[in-house]
Amino acid sequence: MKHICYDYGMKRQPIPRKELKELVLHDGIPRTTFSFYRYVRIVNPKAMRDELFMKFSELGCLGRIYIASEGINAQMNVPTENFENFDVYLQSKEEFNGIPYKIAVEETDAVSFFKLTIKVKQKIVADGLDDSTFDVTKTGEYLTAKEMNEYVDDPEAIIFDMRNAYEGEVGHFERAIVPDVDTFREELKIAPEMLKEHKDKKIAIYCTGGIRCEKASAWLTHKGFANVKHLKGGIIDYKRQVEEGGLPNKFKGKNFVFDERMGERISDEIISYCHLCAKEKCDTHIHCKNQACHVLFLCCDACKAKKRGYCSYGCLIFDKLPEKIKKLLTRNNHKKKLEQFKKHRLKSIKR
Ligand SMILES: [Zn+2]
Ligand SMILES: [Zn+2]
Repeated sequence: MKHICYDYGMKRQPIPRKELKELVLHDGIPRTTFSFYRYVRIVNPKAMRDELFMKFSELGCLGRIYIASEGINAQMNVPTENFENFDVYLQSKEEFNGIPYKIAVEETDAVSFFKLTIKVKQKIVADGLDDSTFDVTKTGEYLTAKEMNEYVDDPEAIIFDMRNAYEGEVGHFERAIVPDVDTFREELKIAPEMLKEHKDKKIAIYCTGGIRCEKASAWLTHKGFANVKHLKGGIIDYKRQVEEGGLPNKFKGKNFVFDERMGERISDEIISYCHLCAKEKCDTHIHCKNQACHVLFLCCDACKAKKRGYCSYGCLIFDKLPEKIKKLLTRNNHKKKLEQFKKHRLKSIKR
């Protein structure tokens, strides 16, 4: 079966996002969503990018992939019937041979990606670290889901969330320390400070799919934490191991994911509140419809209907202004909004 290639990333005929979304939502092609990463030397990232782009387009893959000389980081989907071909191709490449995939929880009514983007980057995860100043290969040992559960049950062990506050807010491990940060850079800055008093304790760190912990565990080891381990395959693989092994689930809530779905439910509990009314339990993220704002926030159904998908009446009214005036008023608006929501979020986290 031939698949339509929705977007080759060429500038000649970009299909508007809305149309793309409609196309993918209604093409009836079953897709498998998954992610993978590897820190591996890639001699010519640009050539690799072009080759993967050709091949993945042929296979009808959609997603967001970063390639750097330090490796690959991919979140994507592939028409399920092409998965095997995809796998054979990827594994045939020396750099990616034996690379494990983390298959996403099945979501029938949600599509993870609407186009294929492959970018050459300086780093596969923006961590703000100078890799020449420490040994990036000296990562901590891995924890399986079963071992992670033992850590959670052990009051002497420290559980530390390596993700951003907006991720931790909707779901985290029992007893986890969730730092109030908006980026991985901030997280790496703050982590050694926050963990200082626990230097000699057993520390378990975790993230979405494991990639951030590869770097973070090496960084913490470099900072003198001798006993840092990290959850192999992150929360995504934890869920799989828990289900397959019949283990108790110690992760509460939703695993925030960086695709159109914005989350995979791990347990039925909703642990966060709507950012607008602060009353309704809610873990559904949306972006404010005002493109000048675009702030990411938790919004219950009632508030969504009331404010029509905007974060505030201010944004609702703003969006109706003529384009020219909007542009004039836009400067700094986004920054202010982020600050405002940080305050909101803090209130809601501290409940
Ligand atoms: Zn609400
Ligand atoms: Zn807004």
